[in-house]
Amino acid sequence: MKSRDIRKKFLDFFNQKGHTIVPSAPMVIKDDPTLMFTNAGMNQFKEYFLGNKTPKTTRLTDTQKCLRVSGKHNDLEEVGKDTYHHTMFEMLGNWSFGDYFKKDAIAWAWELLTEVYGIDKDIIYVTVFEGSDSEGLELDQEAYDYWKAIVPEDRIILGNKKDNFWEMGDQGPCGPSSEIHVDIRPAAERSKISGASLVNMDHPQVVEIWNLVFIEFNRKADGTLEKLAAQHVDTGMGFERLSMVLQGTTSNYDTDVFTPLIREIETITSTEYGTSEETDIAIRVIADHVRAVAFAIADGQLPSNTGAGYVIRRILRRAIRYGFTFLNQKEAFIYKLVDTLSKQMHEFFPELKKQKNIIYNVIKEEENSFLRTLAQGLLLLDTVIKENDASEIPGEKAFELYDTFGFPIDLTALILQEKGYTLDQKGFQEALEKQKTRSRAATKVETGDWEVLIDDPVEEFVGYDLLETPVKITRYRKVDSKKEGTMYQLVFNITPFYAEGGGQVGDKGYLQAANGDVVYIVDTKKENNLIIHLTKHLPKDIHETFTAVVDAKQRERSAANHSATHLLHQALRSVLGTHVEQKGSMVRSGYLRFDFSHFSKLTNDELSAVADFVNARIKEHLPLEENRHTPYHLAIENGAMALFGEKYGDVVRTIKFGESVELCGGTHVKNTRDIWHFIIRSEGAVAAGVRRIEAITYDTAQEYFTSQTEAFHQVKEVLKGNSADPLKAVTALQEENSALKKQVEQLLKEKAKGLKSELKASLESVDGVQFLATEVDLDQGSIKDLAFDLGSEYDNLFLLFGSNHNNKAMLSCYISKELVKERDLNAGTIVRELGKLIQGGGGGQPFFATAGGKNAAGIPEALQKAKSYIQA
Ligand code: ATP
Ligand code: MG
Repeated sequence: MKSRDIRKKFLDFFNQKGHTIVPSAPMVIKDDPTLMFTNAGMNQFKEYFLGNKTPKTTRLTDTQKCLRVSGKHNDLEEVGKDTYHHTMFEMLGNWSFGDYFKKDAIAWAWELLTEVYGIDKDIIYVTVFEGSDSEGLELDQEAYDYWKAIVPEDRIILGNKKDNFWEMGDQGPCGPSSEIHVDIRPAAERSKISGASLVNMDHPQVVEIWNLVFIEFNRKADGTLEKLAAQHVDTGMGFERLSMVLQGTTSNYDTDVFTPLIREIETITSTEYGTSEETDIAIRVIADHVRAVAFAIADGQLPSNTGAGYVIRRILRRAIRYGFTFLNQKEAFIYKLVDTLSKQMHEFFPELKKQKNIIYNVIKEEENSFLRTLAQGLLLLDTVIKENDASEIPGEKAFELYDTFGFPIDLTALILQEKGYTLDQKGFQEALEKQKTRSRAATKVETGDWEVLIDDPVEEFVGYDLLETPVKITRYRKVDSKKEGTMYQLVFNITPFYAEGGGQVGDKGYLQAANGDVVYIVDTKKENNLIIHLTKHLPKDIHETFTAVVDAKQRERSAANHSATHLLHQALRSVLGTHVEQKGSMVRSGYLRFDFSHFSKLTNDELSAVADFVNARIKEHLPLEENRHTPYHLAIENGAMALFGEKYGDVVRTIKFGESVELCGGTHVKNTRDIWHFIIRSEGAVAAGVRRIEAITYDTAQEYFTSQTEAFHQVKEVLKGNSADPLKAVTALQEENSALKKQVEQLLKEKAKGLKSELKASLESVDGVQFLATEVDLDQGSIKDLAFDLGSEYDNLFLLFGSNHNNKAMLSCYISKELVKERDLNAGTIVRELGKLIQGGGGGQPFFATAGGKNAAGIPEALQKAKSYIQA
């Protein structure tokens, strides 16, 4: 069975059982501080389990793009080494929100596996939670009994908390689980050693394929479990592992999910898969990682130096390094796999095809830049080796390479080994640990549990219409972090505050109680759809009714910048072409920033055309046409563009100004005239094929004009009589200046020539040496030229010049090389000694040296003493 049919059969099966098929949520998570990437199908439904939101239907099914490379579920180091863990994989799931529970979940799983997919019943094992004293939980008898009705008891295995109690992170919905394992070893082996003894023992052919989780609890901040109001089903089956079982292979990488990629890697690198463990691992790593990176970029997450972007960068670098070391790839090559990947997956994940160019270019550029880093690191490593006397290289040195240049430690160790050196691994680990502890302490955040004051899970947002409204606090919690100290997060029953989202900053403002008590809201954020208001203090009486007031000025500015961003997007597509797509957006009160796909630097003409386009729309006084409840498909038909990596509901909000239509939750001006004016302040590159424009509008643009005008007036004032045409006057000044410069240079040359003949005349013959010690008024460069010039005419010259050019006391000593040798003289030593007289120091070579000091008054004495060095 082809993998695409396997996926389809799963979704169809649950669809027939009354489940609605929904799309995968983006792999990169934007509004959950506890989770960077989706690590399981249930993440996007977290709020349904907690009862904070109500799903439209109680049964859903999907395939979810997951990434397990950070946090509680991190498989990165296994990937490639084994044959059944990936960084990015698809998780097939069926969901019940307070609807069916263990009985149906178990029966349907069995039906699908054995009847629809036709897996041999005898190779299936199931596990059941045995209970946990520390959690006060008992054996999951219910699940046990349902299984007992369908599988023989010797294939039901009891499992502990580690394997049979599923949690997405340190906090959140969780519960006991029942896993389904498959034993795909050859029959001969199976008869020798029972599969039951290999379940959950990391055997590559006795693997877990499906986990049925029975969500009943919420793990709180203090570690305790709280029973949820309803019981839910959350299941997750690894699509690639299921394909392995159904396609009769013993490795996920031998299924049609991976073979096209593997064949391509073999061709590009001239390596054959299956010939050595070392190259096989490298090939698997690359085949796996290119998927993770490509899907992340398609979801809008570019590799970068921080956060999720950094995780993606590290995954790609791991692949590059395996290629570099084990497949001898010294040039970029992973980007060449993008085409194969997109061809293979685009049917179900169209984002891969639509974003193919950008994925290709970004990976290529990342590869090239990391290969440059590697080359640089190799050179540095050579220096480290040269400078090191012992055969062991200190751990801190390797850590420096790792930390500052991103040079991987295993590569360092390997190269050292090849060159006959060893690495102080312990020292490296210590340096690494030290740094980790430092950064952990710096980023540690302690989040308390919610204190619920009023049981009102739905927080209404009224900020599109109101900037002020009476509110009640429904819950709050305390958050301690090193960075921000103690903060409180407040949730209201109703709020006019816009939470940071869609690139737009969160509102600031305050709460005011009837007794005058004021609490400032310093920021507003969204967490899993909940609007959270951040304050430094709690109000004195938390149960009061407050007037919540949004800072209107800041809001107006953000709105102008947000509306201008939409017009900018439209302008770019109109001026540059429809290949332009939004890649990132930041709307602040002071400025806006817009990242978009485009392959070359914008010319001045293009930038002007873009700005003119936006300003023309502003001048047209286009009214805001807002529709808060447009069916998604209608919005798209009307020309709104959906962004990749964004999750949209069936009903969306559209923002229209003339021909510009966007799906947007942000706040906007009522009419484009309120933007006042749009000015582009900068344009540049952020990544391969991604450009960034920064611009200002409204009162920031006004201030900009005011300050520019002011500066212009000042220039005019300085120009005084010439101010009628300042440009002409400044140009004339520049021309005059450069002519004068030339004249000065000429004069200085002549002066030096005159000086030279003057000095030659005053040379004194002392003991067979042409001697001169005198003060000259020249800069350091001219003194050196003069000394060397004179030096070329004599081979027994001794010069000491004192100078006080630009108030810097200097001594310069020149001695002919012949004299240096014959009389054992050293200009360096001489200036150091005489330099003391001008309270300074210096040095140089035996034939020419200089000293600078603070005390010009010492120059005559120094000049006087010069003769003593050559007198016998
Ligand atoms: P394992 O113990 O094999 O790592 P798990 O207990 O971490 O699996 P779950 O968190 O229960 O797995 O995830 C549900 C299903 O997702 C698993 O049964 C498996 O089929 C699949 N799965 C989990 N992790 C990976 C991975 N890294 N790569 C591919 N599939 C995975
Ligand atoms: Mg795991």
